[in-house]
Amino acid sequence: MDWFMGKGRRKDKDSPTPLVQDEQRQYLQDSCVQERIIQADFEKIVEIPLCLDYCEWLATHVISFFNHVNLMYGAISEYCTSEGCSIMNGPGNVQYFWHDEKGKKFKCTAPEYVDYVMSFIQKDILEETVFPTKFGNAFPSTFQTVVKRIHRYLFHVLAHIYHAHYNEVYVLGLHGHLNTLFAHFMVFNLRFDLLEEKETDVLHDLIKALTTFVPTDTINPLTSTASGEETAADGTAMTNAPSPNPAANPIINPSNNELENEQMRT
Ligand SMILES: [Zn+2]
Repeated sequence: MDWFMGKGRRKDKDSPTPLVQDEQRQYLQDSCVQERIIQADFEKIVEIPLCLDYCEWLATHVISFFNHVNLMYGAISEYCTSEGCSIMNGPGNVQYFWHDEKGKKFKCTAPEYVDYVMSFIQKDILEETVFPTKFGNAFPSTFQTVVKRIHRYLFHVLAHIYHAHYNEVYVLGLHGHLNTLFAHFMVFNLRFDLLEEKETDVLHDLIKALTTFVPTDTINPLTSTASGEETAADGTAMTNAPSPNPAANPIINPSNNELENEQMRT
């Protein structure tokens, strides 16, 4: 599977194409918004159990979201060609531009952009100084900034899938999986303040619909058991630990919310 990378913006100098308000957004139709593979309380699922480390919690989710966005894009990648997707765009015809290592911005096709994104993230995840796996190695002080950058790239890929490939996702019967993945991803981002509003605005209506609408006819008793385990959107079993009180636990109240500088935002 080939993997790719990027950066995006909305209505600013990086996005010369004006927003298009009247485009068709099939994914916003009621029947599409209601599609999920599971009924899950993501607000509860994303809460960090008291006994776990904040960076560990972020890291495991980053890797999981990366794998699942990869998987979802892989399912439709044969339709995402340099001819059909000559620009990397999202809803409202927002364009995402890649920035190279020196910060130079350049335009690329969607498959190129996704390749850059996925290669960049994969490299980060395998870097021991960024995602430590060995005993005694600590997360860097910039870890949250790294996570924000990765999630911004993953958001761009998801935005492109919804915008340019929703029909293929629908025909493949993956729209419920996509909605569930995206809902989990966004609830996690909102909980830990990982994405800026100006990034997520392009899918504002969908985010609102997915995070407020709770389908009642798709409840699967297997996803909520007496043992306290629930199946998360990505199919992993996660312990349904009691929700900690954020005010009483500084590790789940990250104070490092500084915005990345322009160069970092690639
Ligand atoms: Zn595409």
